[in-house]
Amino acid sequence: MNKKFYITTPIYYVNARPHIGHAYTTIACDTIARRQRMMGADTFFLTGTDEHGQKIERAAQAAGKTPQEFTDEVSAQFRALWNRMGITYDDYIRTTDERHIKRVQVLFQHLRDNGYIYKGTYTGQYCVFDELYVDVVGAGAPCPECGRPTETVKEENYFFKLSAFQDKLLQLYTGRPDFIRPDTRRNEVMSFVRSGLRDLSISRSTFSWGIPVPDDPKHVIYVWLDALANYITAIGYGSTHEGAQEAFRRYWPADLQMIGKEIVRFHCVYWPAFLMAAGLPVPKSIVAHGWLLFEESKMSKSRGNIVRAETILDVLGADALRYFLLREIVFGQDGSFSFDALVQRYNSDLANGLGNLASRTLTMITRYFRGEVPYPAAAVSQKAGDNAVAETARTVITDYGDLIDQYQFSRALEVAWSLVAAVDKYIVENEPWALGEKQDEESRSRLATILYTSAEALRIVTALAHPVIPDATSRIWAQLGLGDIRKFPLSDLKWGQLQLGAKLGKVEPVFPRADKSAIERMQNMEEQQRSTVVAPQAEQPAAPTPLVATPAGKPAVSAPDGKISIDDFAKVELRVGQVKTAEKVKGADKLLRLEVDLGTEVRQVVAGIAESYAPEVLIGRKVVIVANLAPRKLRGLESNGMIVAASPEGGKAILASFLEDVPIGTRLK
Ligand SMILES: [Zn+2]
Repeated sequence: MNKKFYITTPIYYVNARPHIGHAYTTIACDTIARRQRMMGADTFFLTGTDEHGQKIERAAQAAGKTPQEFTDEVSAQFRALWNRMGITYDDYIRTTDERHIKRVQVLFQHLRDNGYIYKGTYTGQYCVFDELYVDVVGAGAPCPECGRPTETVKEENYFFKLSAFQDKLLQLYTGRPDFIRPDTRRNEVMSFVRSGLRDLSISRSTFSWGIPVPDDPKHVIYVWLDALANYITAIGYGSTHEGAQEAFRRYWPADLQMIGKEIVRFHCVYWPAFLMAAGLPVPKSIVAHGWLLFEESKMSKSRGNIVRAETILDVLGADALRYFLLREIVFGQDGSFSFDALVQRYNSDLANGLGNLASRTLTMITRYFRGEVPYPAAAVSQKAGDNAVAETARTVITDYGDLIDQYQFSRALEVAWSLVAAVDKYIVENEPWALGEKQDEESRSRLATILYTSAEALRIVTALAHPVIPDATSRIWAQLGLGDIRKFPLSDLKWGQLQLGAKLGKVEPVFPRADKSAIERMQNMEEQQRSTVVAPQAEQPAAPTPLVATPAGKPAVSAPDGKISIDDFAKVELRVGQVKTAEKVKGADKLLRLEVDLGTEVRQVVAGIAESYAPEVLIGRKVVIVANLAPRKLRGLESNGMIVAASPEGGKAILASFLEDVPIGTRLK
């Protein structure tokens, strides 16, 4: 039987819709899985969704759904995206699957039987967002991971004897330097473990959306133990079924578990400790990639800078996204995404690079050789340039394989595309189109050699790039008359395999050039999405603090019951102003008299913000003014406009302001 290869993505937490950060991890795994299959390995590629925990329970409640309805919906969105992108997963596990639930209970029982689980009492701070007890003191103390306020929890819990594994884990990291990659992550993990491991609370009784502890259903199993177990439950661990047990024996341990750097501790400390405690082998390798930044900041729901994969699929297709992410980001490090860079990379490497090479080569073969792969001249009459292309191709095959097997996608693609560049140069220097006009035997023979050489190089790049850009390469392969690329044994790839006289398929462009409007279209699609769709989210804020205008802290406009039209809103002229002077109003505790520069004029405004702001801190500050409000008198002073502030219930007014600098006089609309 062939060598097996078991690869996993992390299972994605269903508190957010999928975005290109999730797609990045999945694309990297899909690329590796496709390459392994082409190399002949019996490959098993697992992905899925993580669906339990208090965050999900609360998010479902906020969305007016049961947790099951909520998770069904979001899990289906992930799956639909992977299907649309042609991700070749072999199984899709959900932690709410019956098979998973039963097998996690088997694992818990197994750990308890082996003496690694005991009952104890826990008091401490718990971060709901991270599902983590944290080492801070005091009610509401901020979580060291995410900065959100923590909750004080006291509960009877089951504990896992993590402390018993400190030495064994250190032996693992030292004895198998490739267990955690890259080295930066390995070093972090080692220093964390060296600093001492405390036993881990692995059950919760404060909420119920989880897998019940066997024989003690008041408790649900800690979400991380539940989630990590998916990598073994999916392939049959804990099943009583003979076939499932056999699959587990065949595929475990995993060959590669791909994760993001933020979940390294769970995968590299807790996960191997759980496995050791259960008497199971640990995975062969855990590889952590960096974060995908959007124009320099981490893509996250709370920042509102998420980019959805769908937008890119609609405009440029899945191959464009796959190629960009793997080519642009140095794997393991943080990388940046922008629509500009995406389109630039698409045009330079795909449209003008591989796409252009395919179309010019295949078009000339169609035109000059009736669409049949021409016979090159005998070796003796070949020129140095022909051999140089063949030599480059041989080097590229070896180097590309080495690099991609070390997950250096960016370098690997750079190497493969050096062959595209070499052939482009070769074609330009040899001017086959000029030879195509001539009918003498020598010109025909020369032309045949040039087009054969170009087509053979094209075939090699196409085969190598297939796991990265499966769609376009399948089409180029078919245009080369080679049939189904997935059946090609990549391990046999070498120069000179192109079948002479083979009939080309129908020649069509694979990467149409993208113009500037593509960037705008994608940006508009994302903006529209952000402003119109309220995703089911765990971080949905509570009722927003209403924006009210002062003075005197009273809402000047009482909110109408019905909705207003855009025309109604347009009647309110909101402008950016800058405070020039500010002073207290005599005999009025709450009022300040301000002079505000609107660019075209300076207005006197009386505002009820004296309890929130000392006059001197306001000078120079930019504020938002309702500029077309009818003037009125307060304490004998004329107020010409209103300052916009948020007035929390029972709290002090907070001025509306901008994070970016905005010119004085700018209208808000
Ligand atoms: Zn936190």
